[in-house]
Amino acid sequence: MTPFAIHAGLMFDGTNMSGPTTVFVEGGRITGVDTTGALPPDGMDLVDLGADAFLMPGLVDPHVHLGFDAGPDPVTAFIAADDEELLARMRTAADTALRAGITTVRDLGGRDYLALALNSGPEILAAGPPITTPGGHCHFMGGAVEGAVALRAAVRDRHERGCAVVKIMLSGGNMTPGSPPPHESQYSPADLRVVVDEAHRLGLPVAAHAHGTPAIRDALAAGVDSIEHATFVTADGVDADPALLAAIAGSDVFVSATIGVVPGDSPLVLPPEVAKRVQAVHEALRTLYRLGARIVLGTDAGIMPVKPHDVLPYAISQFTAEGPSPLEALTAATSLAAQACGVSDRKGRITVGADADLLAVTGNPLDDLDRLRDVRAVFRAGVRVR
Ligand SMILES: [Zn+2]
Repeated sequence: MTPFAIHAGLMFDGTNMSGPTTVFVEGGRITGVDTTGALPPDGMDLVDLGADAFLMPGLVDPHVHLGFDAGPDPVTAFIAADDEELLARMRTAADTALRAGITTVRDLGGRDYLALALNSGPEILAAGPPITTPGGHCHFMGGAVEGAVALRAAVRDRHERGCAVVKIMLSGGNMTPGSPPPHESQYSPADLRVVVDEAHRLGLPVAAHAHGTPAIRDALAAGVDSIEHATFVTADGVDADPALLAAIAGSDVFVSATIGVVPGDSPLVLPPEVAKRVQAVHEALRTLYRLGARIVLGTDAGIMPVKPHDVLPYAISQFTAEGPSPLEALTAATSLAAQACGVSDRKGRITVGADADLLAVTGNPLDDLDRLRDVRAVFRAGVRVR
């Protein structure tokens, strides 16, 4: 591939801002970053995005489900589809994400290992089927397993197949009829430790789906890499223990907050009991932010109509309601998210040696995060997305 340069009026490198910047690209990678404002040498191919363009690393969504169609009943649609239909749907979902500038997604659970077969769209870091109990949360994806020997084998199998992460359904969830409720744990601390130790031995991060406080506490103690959801729900409310919040904030664990919805025409009216619970979940997140926890935005894209596969820009904007500045919110969805996924050497930054996964938008998102949805250009591994 011929070397070329990209010029934009403003640049966010995943952590810091610069003025007019030229980024040099060759072989799918970034080979140079010039923040002096100079244009590239004569004769070099140049994509000048304009003085009003804001160039940034492509976005990273650490928690999506490409196999869920963001329709009114994604589980029924998922189960009804054969592999070929599901793959076609996943490809469409991946392309939707990429067009919005989401250049890396972590698929935290789909049918078997279908996500490993996708080769278009964003870079896909696939978990394969989530490890879950027989009849447990999302067991229909094909990852039901119990007992230490089988759990260890399940982790090895994922590693051998090329999965980039191990996903374990540590607590119940909301989507699977007949499975444990979200506040109940599905695995013992000993079982979890087997999974974490084996995954880490093989160099794979562990993403633990954990709603209930016992599951969140176990996840932290076992040394998982990310706690997905972390809603602290109980049978009838939310109980975010301040000591546990402080322990999470004081650790290296990433909290993957499931925020981000496409706003509707009319505000959502929730029953008072649900509204109270939602408010308490947000309060816990606000406290985690205030205490300095490492929060990333795993949107759970695909699980409902308000969460299409390009919902992440909304999540970035909505995250600022919990306390972060726009710059912190952009960092959470780029360099920090790449760290959470274990790919910070290649993703989430505009720096020499990183993959040339780039998003340019019109205007300055630091003034108005809605600008993130005004996409001017997307590059994936140095190739402009059309
Ligand atoms: Zn999920």
